[in-house]
Amino acid sequence: MCSLLATKPTASTTSLIVIFMGPPGAGKGTHAGPLSQQLGIPHISTGDLFRNNIRMGTPLGQIANRYIAEGKLVPDELTLDMLFDRLSKEDCKKGCILDGFPRTVSQAEAFEKRLDGSSKLLVLHLCVDDAPIIERIIGRFVCNKCATPYHSRFNPPLTPGHCDRCQGFLYQRDDDREDVVRRRLEVYRTQTKPVIDYYAEKEGLLREVCGMSQPEIVFEKVLQALT
Ligand code: AMP
Repeated sequence: MCSLLATKPTASTTSLIVIFMGPPGAGKGTHAGPLSQQLGIPHISTGDLFRNNIRMGTPLGQIANRYIAEGKLVPDELTLDMLFDRLSKEDCKKGCILDGFPRTVSQAEAFEKRLDGSSKLLVLHLCVDDAPIIERIIGRFVCNKCATPYHSRFNPPLTPGHCDRCQGFLYQRDDDREDVVRRRLEVYRTQTKPVIDYYAEKEGLLREVCGMSQPEIVFEKVLQALT
């Protein structure tokens, strides 16, 4: 396993923010979990935050649900308020791993304004082709308690229907249906890809990782990209 020393905040920085970019099904959630354990900073997925709100029946959850079910993005203002509230919590003091955010250039700009000079920012782009994405997503199951992702073919749980980690119940997300996945990929191409170009123009921020191999191999590449 490679050293992560280079990613640690330096004397002039106090927190590390890793942004995971990539299309739906690229493996952002799969790798962000273990990376969070390794770096000792929380994994924050805006999709999971929305799904928690939907489960709890909050007003935000009720609005977000309409967009998510159609494979559309939740409006920036709601997303930013929800994320910034989460980032204000104590456990984010040393940084975090962002998964699923930013998804628009205006989210990226709003996030940048909120950062102070003491944060070190790194953007990891997991690159995958479209064809395997559909197969990856429609076979995907997620734990209802800890959100650990599984795949019926590539990463099945030890006990069918139950999470290996917490014994939670595995379910398929409504927006992982093929028609919604195709819409999400289109939204990714038109609204989120420009965010990668936005970061590519900022020197030294963007690291590209090929996400097409076995998860263990991709995770090693993720670690290497952070050094
Ligand atoms: P994910 O779990 O990241 O695939 O997100 C699931 C859905 O939540 C997306 O298809 C969007 O509808 C919504 N969502 C998640 N993150 C964002 C975001 N940063 N901006 C807007 N909508 C989001």
